[in-house]
Amino acid sequence: MQPITNHLPTAELQALDAAHHMHPFSTQSGFKTKGARVITGAKGVMLRDSEGQEILDAMAGLWCVNIGYGRDELAEVAARQMRELPYYNTFFMTTHVPAIALAKRLADLAPGDLNHVFYAGSGSEANDTNLRMVRTYWAEKGHPNKQIVISRWNAYHGSSVGSGSLGGMKGMHQQGGMPIPGIAHIDQPNWWSEGGDMSPEEFGLERARQLEAKIDELGEDNVAAFIAEPVQGAGGVIVAPDTYWPEISRICRERNILLIADEVICGFGRTGEWFGSQKLNITPDIMTIAKGLSSGYQPIGGSIVSDEVAEVIGNCEFNHGYTYSGHPVASAVALENLRILDEEGIVDRVRNDTGPYLAEKFQSLTDHPMVGEAKIVGMMGSIALTPDKSARAPFEAEAGTVGYMTRERCFANNLIMRHVGDRMIISPPLVISKDEIDTLIDRAWQSLDEGMAAVKDAGLWKAG
Ligand SMILES: *Cc1c(COP(=O)(O)O)cnc(C)c1O
Repeated sequence: MQPITNHLPTAELQALDAAHHMHPFSTQSGFKTKGARVITGAKGVMLRDSEGQEILDAMAGLWCVNIGYGRDELAEVAARQMRELPYYNTFFMTTHVPAIALAKRLADLAPGDLNHVFYAGSGSEANDTNLRMVRTYWAEKGHPNKQIVISRWNAYHGSSVGSGSLGGMKGMHQQGGMPIPGIAHIDQPNWWSEGGDMSPEEFGLERARQLEAKIDELGEDNVAAFIAEPVQGAGGVIVAPDTYWPEISRICRERNILLIADEVICGFGRTGEWFGSQKLNITPDIMTIAKGLSSGYQPIGGSIVSDEVAEVIGNCEFNHGYTYSGHPVASAVALENLRILDEEGIVDRVRNDTGPYLAEKFQSLTDHPMVGEAKIVGMMGSIALTPDKSARAPFEAEAGTVGYMTRERCFANNLIMRHVGDRMIISPPLVISKDEIDTLIDRAWQSLDEGMAAVKDAGLWKAG
């Protein structure tokens, strides 16, 4: 057996990494001057690096390790499935037990009449499926012009050409010819940064009604669907005002367009319910899933589709699918992950116990002089950094400068917390204990202190 070893010195690993490994969402040349941190192992909520440091992972990897690291059960299931049937496809009238069992489980867990699963290998692939599926749905129903999908600026729906176009990340759109045609964007419900003098409630309605205005502008007969994350994740954990989602739901219903809830982050307990749609009372026609579906132990995603959409799609040959759609090992691991989330009461604990505890502690960060608002739903939260709370002012420095400086202090303090612009975000494993939450908050506070000192030293403590 060829071993995977960690025994090269860190500097050597970093040099090899910089020379040969191209990293996502990174400036590659940067790795030559400052090597990447080499993660060698993990248990529970803690990562270990090649220098022996123990790091609290308040991001659950990339929002995905919901049951925490190091669960042997998933390794056992994967090994057993690989021996039994390591691979077979689900094209051309074939199927296998893991794909069947997982689809049944997901149909039981999903709300309402979302009873049908189309598998993918990731969230990006699943959203590409959705884009083609909603267009095919309307074409099959005799409305071939209903093709445009409306999304939101600063949404994240993946990194493939289709899903990246559905997303609203301007930095992504500037590279490689995105967005593709047939996608329109409206503004996000980010009250802290964009709400001006409006109350959050007024602002929520105003932003929701942009959807109505956009449908009118494009013509209802040309719009297929609206896609949105129940709570925006990669955009900075943006929690919409309470008025937003009821209004969006009304508009989708009245204007006869499909609603796609991108549950890639919100799904599988992150919000304290199985799905963010349940938490926020949304009734989608399609839900995108990935990440927490397998707690990141295997790459798997998919679309959970309503009876009505599945029936229409089922009447045509849908010329779409992936080699790894419903991969047996990934499906078996996902099923075991769902068993653990359920039988260990992890979702209930987020709803009733550790979630409320984290919310209270997280809210206390607004006592820090650099923190404006704190927003949290279940186990995804964000704080807005500001030099002037009452004005909700940004820093004079380019957006993200202060966030980055603070993120660097978190890193130094063995806390993985990300920054999105000048918001700091968390999304810890759902199994985090109260003691570990205390450690998270202590390290965050310490990092905010050090970040603020660095900002002042750099002469950046100025409202822009
Ligand atoms: C991460 C993410 C995706 C993309 O998933 P990948 O597995 O990285 O392709 C899509 N939607 C949301 C909301 C995400 O957070």
